[in-house]
Formats: sequence, C-alpha cells, structure tokens
Amino acid sequence: MTNNMSDLIDNYQQVMARIQTATELAKRVKAPELLAVSKRHDVEKIKALAAIGQVDFGESYAQEGVKKKEQLYEFPLVWHFIGPIQSNKVKLIAPNFDWVHSVDRIKTLQLLNHHRADNQQPLNVLLQLKIGDEPNKSGATYDDVVELAALAENLEGLKLRGLMCIPPASDDFNIQCGFFQEAEVVFGEMVSKYPQVDTLSMGMSGDLDAAIQTGSTLVRVGTDIFGRRPE
Ligand SMILES: *Cc1c(COP(=O)(O)O)cnc(C)c1O
Repeated sequence: MTNNMSDLIDNYQQVMARIQTATELAKRVKAPELLAVSKRHDVEKIKALAAIGQVDFGESYAQEGVKKKEQLYEFPLVWHFIGPIQSNKVKLIAPNFDWVHSVDRIKTLQLLNHHRADNQQPLNVLLQLKIGDEPNKSGATYDDVVELAALAENLEGLKLRGLMCIPPASDDFNIQCGFFQEAEVVFGEMVSKYPQVDTLSMGMSGDLDAAIQTGSTLVRVGTDIFGRRPE
C-alpha cells in the first residue's frame, strides 16, 4: 500500500516534469493544465493526489464518476466527464460534473442544457472534434463543430469553452503533431469567434509532448500517473 502510493506520487511528479519540459521545448509561456484521468482507479489514489494539490480529475463512466465525487465531497475537486455520452446518462452527468469534454451531437447539447439546474453555474462544454478518418470513431466533423458551437452559445445552462480531440494512435511525434495541428487550427477559429473559448483538451500518456508542441491547454493523463487500469 505505502509503496503503491509513493509510486503514484513519483509518477505524478514525473508527468508534471514532462509537461514542464515540453512547454519549454515548445517555447510556450504557460504550461497546460493537467487533468488526472482516474477512471477505474480507486478513491484512495485520488485522495493522495488531491493532498498534493491536484484539482482536476477525469472520469469516463457516469455512475463511477458520481460515486467518487460523493465519496470525496470534502475535497474541493473539479470533475470532468470525458467518456462517450449515452442519452440516458445525461441526467446523471449534467448536474454532477463541472466539465464535459465529449459532446459531438446536437441532442446531447440540448439534453445537457435541460438537465443542468438553474441554480448551478453553467456546465463547461468542450466539443469533440473528429481527427483522422477512422470508422466508428466518435467526434464531430468540422462542419458539425461549427453548428454545435453556435447552438451551445445560445443555451443558458452551458458555457462553451473549446475543443477536445483524440487522434488516431501513432508512436511518431511528427504524425502526432500533424493530427493535433488540425485541432489547433479549428480551435484558433473558435477563439476568434467566441471570446470565452480558452480550452484545447488534447494529449494523453502516449502523445502529450506532441500535444503541448501544438497548443494544448489541457492534457488528460491516466496510465502514466496511475499505472495500468484494472480490467
Ligand atoms: C482514458 C482516457 C484518457 C487517458 O488515457 P491514458 O492513455 O491512460 O493517459 C484520456 N482521454 C480520454 C478521453 C480517455 O478516455
């Protein structure tokens, strides 16, 4: 147990150092934020990271995320929903999470807005842009993102904050950068149209260096912090 937790802290500090190095290499002034992706890892690990100052946590399964949030209510954490959104889970997601990264359909936007309570802050929304052409992959096309952004702007329960993407897997830094640049361009257009847009969520354990090179403002890291996810 003790060992596990000290590995966790070690891993976390290594990821923070890697983000710092990539930020310097990219000659960027500000490092991206780190979203710790805690899906399928237990609350004790989240507590250990919260104790050393990590605030943002990402979950992919609605019930699991809500349960953890309830167990950790005394910690001032920010919860991000990053998984595919089934319509029947929106009732659970909309009131309980602070951010949703994976919006790629009009119906989801409308349901999220509907289920966000009036007395809550607007829900922070990222639109998931599809990058590369893999069949059966989630994410909206460029044209759909433009349409979704315009709609999100008009929904009072939501606050449009930017884009998220998951490009096709590759081990090659230049190929990774090529995919991320597509998102960077679309993000630039969104920023000039909508002044409150400030978040480009991209980069995971295997490609965060390339994501930082190409303008990511929020990297989502699971495996390199928590180790392999339990089946
Ligand atoms: C699981 C997940 C991550 C974390 O991936 P790792 O490779 O474990 O760092 C990031 N983003 C999304 C959308 C995920 O589902």
